Amino acid sequence: MPELPEVETIARGIEPLVLNKTIVQVTIRYAGILHTDLEQFEKQVSGRTIVRVWRRAKLLIFDLEPDLHLVFHLKMTGKVWLPQDGQSIDKHTHLIFSLNDGSRIFFEDMRKFGYCALFDKSGLLAWRFYSQLGPEPLHLSENEFIKIFSGRKSRIKALLLDQRVIAGIGNIYADESLFMAGIHPETPGCAVGKEDLKKLYHGLVQVLNQAIEAGGSSFRDYRNALGYSGMFQEKFLIYGKKGQCCPHCQTMVETRKVAGRTSCICPSCQKLSTDTVSQNE
Ligand SMILES: [Zn+2]
Repeated sequence: MPELPEVETIARGIEPLVLNKTIVQVTIRYAGILHTDLEQFEKQVSGRTIVRVWRRAKLLIFDLEPDLHLVFHLKMTGKVWLPQDGQSIDKHTHLIFSLNDGSRIFFEDMRKFGYCALFDKSGLLAWRFYSQLGPEPLHLSENEFIKIFSGRKSRIKALLLDQRVIAGIGNIYADESLFMAGIHPETPGCAVGKEDLKKLYHGLVQVLNQAIEAGGSSFRDYRNALGYSGMFQEKFLIYGKKGQCCPHCQTMVETRKVAGRTSCICPSCQKLSTDTVSQNE
């Protein structure tokens, strides 16, 4: 699933390509991908000019003048991109936005878990999913980050993945930052010491920024605005490394299920202490 760095890369890549261009036509090839009434969608989007492309959590948002927000959640396999010459529509192309300069924005999704919705400003703010989103990790201070986890009994990995607690983080960057901080993913949030939370904060900020610089991670399907892969997957320390050696201590990397997701950990660098286990019960 595209996480914060991937969606940020898409937004930054697409914005200069579409800014101040007008959507002249919308082609809906699979209406099930829309979370907005079909007729309303067609009527309201056509003729609108794109004035901003941005990200909130894992949502990709196009602002249309004067006050509409075209929102995409890419989920597992969604892609929003501008095909270059010679690249054509396939069976996974569900929405096509034709612009006044002849270019087209495609929304593709092989598994169809993603969606597109249209809101006006008050509608966006009233949308439960949006209004409940936690803070952006790159906008938090160290102290604000530490406060988020104090008094929380849920496991630290579950908290990192919970979009209401902190926004934009998924399995990749949760595993990478927990490894960097030497924290076991099953440690209850309230049992992670302040010094370790500081390490987690700095690890997370570092890994998110490095991944944005590298154009995101293309572990499975993610592609950027022009359909190219990101590079950060080559920098993973722990994610997807099961059976390989830990880059710090050479112990073999293991996996375990935490919060329903497979987590990669080094059992030597990320120990679950008995203290924290008892607090988890
Ligand atoms: Zn290790």
